[in-house]
Amino acid sequence: MTYQNFTLDIDADGIALVTWDMPGKSMNVISIEAMAEIAAIVERVAANPAIKGAVIASAKDTFSGGADLKMLEGLLREFHVSRRADPEAAALRLFEESRKLSLIYRRLETCGKPFVAAIHGTCLGGALELSLACHGRVMADDDKTKIGLPEVKVGIFPGAGGTQRVMRLTDPQSGLMMLLQGQELKAAKAKAMGLVHVTAPRAEIVETARKLLRDGQVPAKQPWDRPDFKQPGGKIYSPAGMQFWPAANAIYRRETADNYPGARAIMMACYEGLQMPMDIALRIESRYFAHVMQTPEAACMIRSLFVSMQDLNKGARRPAGPAPSSLKRIGVIGAGFMGAGIANVSAKAGIEVVLIDRDQEAADKGLAHIARQADDAIAKGRMKPADKDALLARVTASADYGKLADVDLVVEAVFEDRAIKKAVTEAVEAVIPPGCIFASNTSTLPITSLAANSARPDQFIGIHFFSPVEKMMLVEIIMGEKTGEEALARAMDFVKLIRKTPIVVNDARGFFANRCVLAYVREGFLMLDEGISATMVERCAAMAGMPVGPLSLSDEVGLDLSWKILQATKKDLGDGAVDPAQERILSALVVERGRQGRKNAQGFYDYPAAKGAKKQLWPGLVDILGAPRPAEAFDIGELKQRFLVAQALEAARTVEEGVVTDPREADVGSILGFGFAPYTGGTLSYIDAMGARAFVALCDKLAAKYGPRFAPTALLKEMADKRETFYGRFAPTARAA
Ligand code: NAD
Repeated sequence: MTYQNFTLDIDADGIALVTWDMPGKSMNVISIEAMAEIAAIVERVAANPAIKGAVIASAKDTFSGGADLKMLEGLLREFHVSRRADPEAAALRLFEESRKLSLIYRRLETCGKPFVAAIHGTCLGGALELSLACHGRVMADDDKTKIGLPEVKVGIFPGAGGTQRVMRLTDPQSGLMMLLQGQELKAAKAKAMGLVHVTAPRAEIVETARKLLRDGQVPAKQPWDRPDFKQPGGKIYSPAGMQFWPAANAIYRRETADNYPGARAIMMACYEGLQMPMDIALRIESRYFAHVMQTPEAACMIRSLFVSMQDLNKGARRPAGPAPSSLKRIGVIGAGFMGAGIANVSAKAGIEVVLIDRDQEAADKGLAHIARQADDAIAKGRMKPADKDALLARVTASADYGKLADVDLVVEAVFEDRAIKKAVTEAVEAVIPPGCIFASNTSTLPITSLAANSARPDQFIGIHFFSPVEKMMLVEIIMGEKTGEEALARAMDFVKLIRKTPIVVNDARGFFANRCVLAYVREGFLMLDEGISATMVERCAAMAGMPVGPLSLSDEVGLDLSWKILQATKKDLGDGAVDPAQERILSALVVERGRQGRKNAQGFYDYPAAKGAKKQLWPGLVDILGAPRPAEAFDIGELKQRFLVAQALEAARTVEEGVVTDPREADVGSILGFGFAPYTGGTLSYIDAMGARAFVALCDKLAAKYGPRFAPTALLKEMADKRETFYGRFAPTARAA
């Protein structure tokens, strides 16, 4: 029998080598066809007396990235259609379909012949679950090889035995951490945890696996199917278990605020499953899996964090016309906080960078930042010393604009000052070649107004990074009124090269992300003004799913900067554009008391200098705000909603104003750009999942209580009337290939 995705060769010792090599794909994935072939291979190995055992390996650069989530998306779509006619039958079918892989893997581990997985490169999700079902695992010990179960990050959890086998192989604390955080593990850690048996150089993994089988070192029965099996860490109902599980539950609550059905299911499937024999444990896992699949969180997270993100990364919004460009050399003007970061990520991607500042000393400071970051990476074992030398060699720090004569793209990151930006634009355009694209990293100045300084506004664009550049994965690309397709294509090619996720937005004050962030932070200030304690404000934001509280975020950005932005907004848009309560609090902190935030260790929080000391909310806040009212005076559910609604409403306004044109970008942009509660799938998915009607009703209620900033917009009301969704009404057109 031949297979499409696998080959099977039997050697003289009766060891079958099953090689996974999907045609026409750069990576192996678990598809419907691959599943059927794995099932057939298991039966063949089991039935053929000449086969003593089997090694499963990959012929690709990497083992496999796991299941094709689009397959799950399809299954869900079918479920939602069929449940209208017969909900019970639809639920049963979803349960049965979604546990097929789990049953195949169970058959593999109970078929009577030993299997050994030989793992190199990435081995994630359903592929790791396949390996865990094998009786032995050999893992390559190089830096590129890692295993993990990242499902929880896209709203689901490992549903093909992963929760049950991990928890039976390793101690409960390490197992739960791995599952709940979707950790990726390298060989040494995986071995220490007991998840793999042997590590070996990559070139030797298959032979090592064969030898294990040849020498009879791999029993065909898993430890948990033997009567003498003992769970690592002991049984749940044991003194050790009773110490561990209640604490684990509390930590789970603290970390997730119980917002993620996938994470909750991990806790329950492990706790319940560990008390049962394997077949029943797997059934429990499958039940939770089918349940989690039906939650809006799973649907929205898979869509935004897997499907849409992949589409955007592949260039879904890149115009097809301009030919792909390969950027070899770029210029970065301004070697400050942002410019140095932009130069760093570009050089890391192999691009030569000319880093310009006012004088050599300032330019060298930027270079020193890159060197420091590299030293940090070396200390953490993430970079080799030789790579640092090569990295620094790609960066030319200088004050000489003449060095920009042969660059393909320039990113300007000088002070946020119109006159300076104008002078820099003119100086740059005097030397760059005709085809070069000029991009500004401005955070507040409309691109169209800056493009007025350019002799070629069609080649002028915004490329807006977030800080810290090295960490933040989102980049906003801003189209000025006259920006041309070539500039957009080049900007997108650049963002792809540096492996960030781009969203394309039209020009407007604050673009997309910062507008939503400002709405979030303002809500925090207004809560303080209402007499809600700072602790409660921060905690409610965390419970709503925001990774950083509004007061912490203000401290990070700089309270002085927030004050400046407020003043600039007043100057440009009038007194009514800022909230007096927010202005009063900022003035009391910044102007009267010089508290600038993290940068001078004094903001909403105090930042003690002692190493390892934690920040503490500043006790003097009561002098500015008065004593907070008691916690019982507030509805915590409503406080949480206010944080999310304020941001989602601002996102809806950006769509209404034509700033954002594709719902995928608002969703992905809101999660990557400012951490909008990821379990919602993003700002617009939050509205869609609730339904425009319910959202408008919620806005009306909040507006009546807290003011017109919550008033629903005309578009939302129309969508509510017509029962439309953002994804329905603004259906993404250009799907990436
Ligand atoms: P910064 O003050 O750290 O750096 C600015 C750099 O520009 C300094 O090194 C300065 O010497 C240099 N510079 C000033 N005038 C110059 C000139 N005429 N020629 C060459 N270099 C000159 O500021 P930053 O925080 O890196 O911000 C830079 C830009 O990035 C601003 O437009 C800002 O709005 C934008 N931005 C900042 C952030 C942020 O979080 N800081 C985020 C996104 C965008």
